[in-house]
Amino acid sequence: MAKNYIIEHMEEGMHDWCKLEYEHMVSVCGPDHVYFTALTPKTLADMPETLSKAHCHTEDILTMGDRIPHEKVCLLDPASPHVLSPEDGDKYDFFLFGGILGDDPPRDRTGELRKLGFVTRHLGPIQMTTDTALNVTRRIVEGKVPLDQIPFVDHPEIKLRKKETVTMPFRYIALPPKEPSSADATSLDEATGSTKKAKKPRQPEPLLPPGMIELLKKDNDTALDLF
Ligand code: SAH
Repeated sequence: MAKNYIIEHMEEGMHDWCKLEYEHMVSVCGPDHVYFTALTPKTLADMPETLSKAHCHTEDILTMGDRIPHEKVCLLDPASPHVLSPEDGDKYDFFLFGGILGDDPPRDRTGELRKLGFVTRHLGPIQMTTDTALNVTRRIVEGKVPLDQIPFVDHPEIKLRKKETVTMPFRYIALPPKEPSSADATSLDEATGSTKKAKKPRQPEPLLPPGMIELLKKDNDTALDLF
């Protein structure tokens, strides 16, 4: 049964990064199952059309208690003592996330939601971006896949251009390999008949929001222009 995913917006305005993550969530879950709460009136007014199809509210999650019953809400909280399990999909109908741009190191801003007294569950010890946390939650509570069976890539190095990479300080879902990794493939040196040592295995590709590579390039160019 489809669950509902609530993102309590805790940033000023709607950064491009947030917008891409939020659009990724809406495209994965469908607009009927995504709620953006605690939007400022200005952010709500400026909401991109792709996001305005979801449930967009200036009210915060607590104020919406009459429509979103407290006991049916589970907060995804890195500091929770309990890991999220497939069975939680039978107990809760709403999964709540902090609409927070990840900090490195994390400043535990999710703590502001923890104070509200919801049941909490964690998704492992490494910080995920909000859209990753939602995708992982959905695989667990809807797909019934336990957390330890979901492939991850941590702190991936993202290639922006030929000699330009950026390392992301988060855990992401790992995409399935496109072709056999170099660790599997060995090449035969025709001249000597010996097999060449396999190159270093390539890191799995991270599942990123569509458009994120372009945004990282733009941000990187802006940062480089400062020097
Ligand atoms: N650095 C932020 C977290 C940003 S991640 C902080 O200070 O809290 C945005 C949201 O994704 C978090 O509020 C949480 O709801 C969810 N999330 C990210 N990683 C998680 C993890 N390992 N376990 C549980 N929830 C996580």
